[in-house]
Amino acid sequence: MLTEIAVVTLFPEWFDSLKTLGLTGRALADQRVRLRCYNPRDHASGVHRSVDDRPYGGGPGMVMRPEPLALAIEQAKGDCDHGSDNSRHTIVSGLSPQGRRLDQKAVEMLAQRERLILVCGRYEGIDERVNDALIDEEWSLGDFVLSGGEYAAAALIDAVVRLQPGVLGHEQSAVEDSFSTGLLDHPHFTRPEVWRDLTVPPVLQSGDHARIAQWRRRQALLRTLLRRPDLLEQAELNDEERAWLEQQAHLRQRPG
Ligand code: SAM
Repeated sequence: MLTEIAVVTLFPEWFDSLKTLGLTGRALADQRVRLRCYNPRDHASGVHRSVDDRPYGGGPGMVMRPEPLALAIEQAKGDCDHGSDNSRHTIVSGLSPQGRRLDQKAVEMLAQRERLILVCGRYEGIDERVNDALIDEEWSLGDFVLSGGEYAAAALIDAVVRLQPGVLGHEQSAVEDSFSTGLLDHPHFTRPEVWRDLTVPPVLQSGDHARIAQWRRRQALLRTLLRRPDLLEQAELNDEERAWLEQQAHLRQRPG
């Protein structure tokens, strides 16, 4: 169970909303999970406490200086390792577009760790020597470039915190979410029954739980077939579901 998240960031205030709003806000307020920020600027010397410098070899942009960043990471590691019951060192995770792509499987794995240290880059990124010396793994939000690791860290934190026991109001909802079952989630509806001439599927009002469960499962299968057929290769389906999906294959739009 996750108890401690340490974020190394030049913008600790960025995480204030996570601490106060929504599910993460509640989990953090309940002290289920503690979120602490470590600012490299606090470890920077000189009048300007500068945390970035020009890149060797020239070129545009700035690079995060190694020493203030390393000291902030080491402080986070010291606090996390010291506060832990076991002697295993805390894995340091960098956020980077060059890292392993974050997906629900990875989130489920990270959610089981006791402690997370997330290192947010800025500018052109961090000095490669800090990567080599102190970062154990790197995670990417996708094949696009953000201006800072904070956006990715916030997404990762939200995704892992909502999987902690007792954080979601209804434990089952995380299990049914997209990707947790290997499929996309089924569609959801709420009141009113008719909205702008559009009606809620009658089966959902039937009170027949078995039929509702079957309808939802088939909707999830259909959505996955139409939107993310790649997921079906790994999904656990029974023979009846595979046969049903084959009957729906004609609904798939062919490219071109
Ligand atoms: N020059 C770097 C490159 O092309 O790989 C990009 C640097 S980016 C402008 C600044 C920081 O934002 C990175 O150090 C990283 O922490 C974060 N970042 C940018 N895109 C990201 C992504 N897709 N996933 C995770 N972090 C990202």
